[in-house]
Amino acid sequence: MSSPDDQGFATRAIHAGQEADTATGAVVTPIYQVSTYKQDGIGGFRGGYEYSRSANPTRAALEGCLAALEGGGRGFAFASGLAGQDAVARSVLTPGDHVVVPSDAYGGTYRYFNKVAKPQGIEHTIAPLSDVDAVRSAIRPGTTKLVWLETPTNPLLNIADIAALAEVAHAAGALLAVDNTFASSYLQNPLALGADIVTHSTTKYAGGHSDVVSGAVVTAKEVTVPGAEHISDRIAFHQNSIGGVAGPFDSWLVLRGLKTLAVRMEQHCDNAEAVVEHLVAHPAVESVLYPGLESHPGHNVAAKQMKRFGGMVSILLRKGEQAAVDVCGATTIWTLAESLGGIESLLEHPGRMTHASVAGTALEVPPNLVRLSVGIEDVDDLIGDLDAALAAHA
Ligand code: PLP
Repeated sequence: MSSPDDQGFATRAIHAGQEADTATGAVVTPIYQVSTYKQDGIGGFRGGYEYSRSANPTRAALEGCLAALEGGGRGFAFASGLAGQDAVARSVLTPGDHVVVPSDAYGGTYRYFNKVAKPQGIEHTIAPLSDVDAVRSAIRPGTTKLVWLETPTNPLLNIADIAALAEVAHAAGALLAVDNTFASSYLQNPLALGADIVTHSTTKYAGGHSDVVSGAVVTAKEVTVPGAEHISDRIAFHQNSIGGVAGPFDSWLVLRGLKTLAVRMEQHCDNAEAVVEHLVAHPAVESVLYPGLESHPGHNVAAKQMKRFGGMVSILLRKGEQAAVDVCGATTIWTLAESLGGIESLLEHPGRMTHASVAGTALEVPPNLVRLSVGIEDVDDLIGDLDAALAAHA
């Protein structure tokens, strides 16, 4: 059989990390809902399994699949995206170190660096990551150990040049971690562009059905940290020592979600493009933020590093905050909810919802912003529903 390195994305998504169950031949990896494993004499582990915080067969299948989809050395599945990000930060940073974080990012990511890492002695500088020179200036030589980026960003859909920032980070002796949640592994592979670590909230496109909260970390094949330890060994250590692991059922749900990621992403992109085309001409809309638009400042970089431009779209309402709030409450097919990346279309007001935690900081988002997670329903229905909600605000 060909190795995953030679296989296409959809083949890897369906097969990597997974083999028919040795006991029964079940073609789908079973949910190993178990905490501990019988030992054949002390230390006689069957297949290396000892205790499910350390390793579990369902989680191991998912971790193998995640690594194959990102072209990485090793994958790790966590109980949430933030639990994975915490394991990365703990594995790379120690008190006295410095990290560059995006001026536009998921609010919870900034909250983590500002309210969890900072009190533990890890300083940060906020920089607009679409500006390579600004990142270079934000780096403190010798002290910056990590550049954290998200691209496209949540919720403003800004684009960072992964290859250029990998060079900047590496020239300063820092690692580059990329939150690949918005693009998904199907549309973008940061490790191939020079990043050292990829993270995902697999709650989003990877799971894809709004039925699980989970996270992933994938490390590049050859990345050592001071002490010449491989970064994946440190992440494995923290995953086991802190214990924020994905449970067997959650792992199974994400594993199942990944099998259809390729077809789902194509449909998310088709629908998003049609929604964008409609909204750019809508009188209620001041501007549409979508990297697929040629007018988007990051369009050329996005075209270089993404297969397509994704299913996330943000809009600014001409009539301001109240119009944005009203539109969020006026749709019938689009559901007013946090999160994104599921098959059903969602919309939300970032300023009052997902990004409320960054109000008053440099990451505060515009009050007239509405974020759309374009699902895979019939696109005419999606456009009709938006039109009806926007009509009063034209
Ligand atoms: N990264 C991005 C881009 C997100 O949108 C989110 C959650 O919305 C996270 C990370 C955190 O993931 P989780 O909610 O699974 O902890």
